[in-house]
Amino acid sequence: MKAKIIDGKALAAAVKQEAAQQVAQLKEKGITPCLAVVLVGEDPASQVYVRGKINDCAQCGIESRSIRLPEDVTQAELLAQVKQLAEDASVHGILVQLPLPAQIDEKTVIDAIPPEKDVDGFSPVNVGRMQIGEPCYLPCTPAGCIRMIESTGMEIAGKHAVVIGRSNIVGKPAAMLLLAKNATVTICHSRTQNLKGLCASADILVAAVGRAGFVTGEMVKPGAVVIDVGINRGADGKLHGDVDFDAAAEKAAWITPVPGGVGPMTRAMLMLNTVEAARRAAGV
Ligand code: NDP
Repeated sequence: MKAKIIDGKALAAAVKQEAAQQVAQLKEKGITPCLAVVLVGEDPASQVYVRGKINDCAQCGIESRSIRLPEDVTQAELLAQVKQLAEDASVHGILVQLPLPAQIDEKTVIDAIPPEKDVDGFSPVNVGRMQIGEPCYLPCTPAGCIRMIESTGMEIAGKHAVVIGRSNIVGKPAAMLLLAKNATVTICHSRTQNLKGLCASADILVAAVGRAGFVTGEMVKPGAVVIDVGINRGADGKLHGDVDFDAAAEKAAWITPVPGGVGPMTRAMLMLNTVEAARRAAGV
């Protein structure tokens, strides 16, 4: 293997330490950052994610509130809960764990989170602010990807970055953040022609497809930085990325593993956003 590993766990630990230091400073001013996490239903994966976020809060000294609602909760009930949290001045960040059951319109729920408490960075206001380069909460997964690329020491400006995937939570914002760092960005999706050729010309390759092993070795430019966002559970019960790790690692200079790559960084970035929300609420 030629590539060096971008260690998401180690980087996440450093980011959480950064958050913890900021929390300690805020506490000296009498401010305790607080994140409310709303979980609907019993989805096992969502339960694991929420538990992880609550643990992260504890590690950073952030207060957390876990609100659990039944699978058959109505939209009105969920919205009432979000409204209550929105009006609670002691809550700085609100996160509604996705996906939500079929009877709930996700967009309406996300829209109900006030932009100043939208620590996931999914609300239209935060998305718009990011687009035009105004202060906002950056969506955690793409922001984590940028940190991981920067951790390699590679200059992003001027590089060709290829993002595979154009979802609102990963692909599009990852592309926008790379553009903001002055990369020349290509976004690929299911209708893209010559996807392999485009990927093979990428200095930075971000895979957010949701298909195990989608990125093969021939799609990786020698010396590239490869960021694997994918989380796919295989028939073997294990988690697999979107990248054929072994083949890609033969050509890339740097690569993220799955698990232990983008996932932990995503969670760590949420802590930074929550601290920032508390700071802004207090005007300090
Ligand atoms: P979506 O399903 O919303 O988006 C997938 C994207 O991949 C779409 O834009 C789709 O194109 C594109 N795509 C699908 N098939 C192909 C193909 N054959 N060729 C080219 N493009 C294709 O997924 P998400 O963005 O939500 O998530 C992507 C992956 O990242 C998933 O594995 C998810 O689990 C993981 N994830 C990981 C996180 C983490 O913390 N590590 C956080 C969030 C997600 P089109 O738009 O044309 O349909």
